[in-house]
Amino acid sequence: MITDTNTLCPSSRAETGAILLGVITPQEQVAMLSEKVEVNQAFIDAVSKEKSPESQFRFANRCVKSGCQQWASGRCGVIDAVMKVNPDLQVQDSYLPTCSIRSQCRWYLQTGANACVVCPFIITDSMETAEDRIIYIQENELETV
Ligand code: SF4
Repeated sequence: MITDTNTLCPSSRAETGAILLGVITPQEQVAMLSEKVEVNQAFIDAVSKEKSPESQFRFANRCVKSGCQQWASGRCGVIDAVMKVNPDLQVQDSYLPTCSIRSQCRWYLQTGANACVVCPFIITDSMETAEDRIIYIQENELETV
């Protein structure tokens, strides 16, 4: 169960009790929801018939730190890897897209508003390789700032 004090991973698997964070659009970007919506098994079953839920939506759940293979040196390695290809990104906190979990988000707590610029380009379960996805993020992010 997620509480208001948990730090949340914004790229989690679809599980009962997870938060539905956003919807992947046809343009392969995440349309973030403005309110927390908890998912249940019926939702997961309904959206799993043809494609994985993580290729259609983004989910948030508790950050498990060292229990996750992406955790390294006390940090989330996912957002650090994405930020490495965008080293010049300097977004002010005045740029803050809609998001239901910001005050609890591991990426925001770690990287600030810069994370929120690249976040909508991250698809948890993408058919592309990680390298292709980072190139895609890099190219698209540069057009948005
Ligand atoms: S990085 Fe920013 S936009 Fe993405 S989930 Fe975290 S707070 Fe929300």
